[in-house]
Amino acid sequence: MAIEIPSPPKVGMVSLGCPKALVDSERILTRLRADGYQMSADYAGADVVLVNTCGFLDSAKEESLAAIGEAIAENGRVIVTGCMGNEAEAIRARFPQVLAVTGAHQYEDVVGAVHDAAPPELSPYVDLIPQARGGEFGEDGGVKLTPRHYGYLKISEGCNHACSFCIIPSLRGKLASRRIDAVLREAEKLVQAGTRELLVISQDTSAYGVDVRHEERAWKGNPVRTHMTDLARELGQLTDASGQRPWVRLHYVYPYPHVDQVIPLMAEGLITPYLDIPFQHAAPSVLKSMKRPANEAKVLDRLRAWREICPDIAIRSSFVVGFPGETEADFQYLLDWLDEAQLDRVGAFRFEPVEGASANDLPGAVPEAVKEERYARIMEKTAAISAAKLQAKVGRVLPVIIDEVGEPDDDGDIGATGRSEADAPEIDGNVYLRDVSSDLKAGDIVLARIEDADEHDLFGAITPA
Ligand code: SF4
Repeated sequence: MAIEIPSPPKVGMVSLGCPKALVDSERILTRLRADGYQMSADYAGADVVLVNTCGFLDSAKEESLAAIGEAIAENGRVIVTGCMGNEAEAIRARFPQVLAVTGAHQYEDVVGAVHDAAPPELSPYVDLIPQARGGEFGEDGGVKLTPRHYGYLKISEGCNHACSFCIIPSLRGKLASRRIDAVLREAEKLVQAGTRELLVISQDTSAYGVDVRHEERAWKGNPVRTHMTDLARELGQLTDASGQRPWVRLHYVYPYPHVDQVIPLMAEGLITPYLDIPFQHAAPSVLKSMKRPANEAKVLDRLRAWREICPDIAIRSSFVVGFPGETEADFQYLLDWLDEAQLDRVGAFRFEPVEGASANDLPGAVPEAVKEERYARIMEKTAAISAAKLQAKVGRVLPVIIDEVGEPDDDGDIGATGRSEADAPEIDGNVYLRDVSSDLKAGDIVLARIEDADEHDLFGAITPA
């Protein structure tokens, strides 16, 4: 008689928040999968639903609470984890039915809570190490929530700074860097499994390894330091089975002096010429009250020097308007700075007080109407800069990574959506390609001649290599 393998319990997941939270969700699901659970794509099929929350802004908290409410209404068996897990009392007061509340990175706790809520019926006949099954699973059995052709690589947890508007250090603790050999091994697996673009993330990527004094580890017989420069150089040399190198994109980089060392790696083509630097403001007095790291006056000179070494470098940044004490002169300083800096991609936010942040006690709250007006002005300024920069790309031939290939239209023409090296997935623009071949697929990297541009996106057609 055949041995009956019990059908495994199913877990549903609602993942909110930033890419870092997404990586946490992937880790939790990978661990649960290794414990014998299956994933459910809908509430109805799940034995228990995990809600991975974001508690960074008050608006994100509201979104998290709404997601918990929906999961309770739809399924009823809900475990809450993530940044808002630190506010267990508030969650329990509103939703007494939740089965458990655990905080960010408490993988053991959340996995334990799932075991309590829906005990796995383990069988010795089922592999302990999950195998690739296609679909949502990576080749190594790791569960990936991002498309297979790009993947997030988290290099550290926590942060040593104390920006006055931010509560992440109290939620996530001090900087804790992962071993560089473990990070490189994970990246190598991803690349060998088909990931064509690695997105390096952490709270403070340029501080990587500071907590372990940049200790050396062996990688392929050579010593490498736990340091952003060594990491970038090694990531840029990974290859897949056909010898292709991935795009390597650095996010959340603060402009410490050693960031200058990665620009030549971009000029050599080892890593993608792109830096995501959250400047947040430019006016010295605002930066001072924000307590921002690497806040120094020479940033514009550095940007100029970087562009001399690597003319195609794309700089992405985000800014907060209406921070307490921001005067009209401070805001005008920021607009003038942006004129000089000519950043490629900019996100802007109106200041929102976050419960527990020291900025809430600062004097000089900016009225909402003024915040709105400044927000509109900064968006207008940055859209004009972006439009001019994109217009300058018309006529050029650029590498484009394909994210999605469409269906043929009435004339049989197929369009595709991709991104240039200047565009990170989900936060920057797209390159729309016309008349592509039906065998093009997500993850292919092609050369495209740019034919048109608007404020955020490019349009073009594939050109022979
Ligand atoms: S650098 Fe500042 S904004 Fe970023 S996580 Fe650390 S404290 Fe928060």
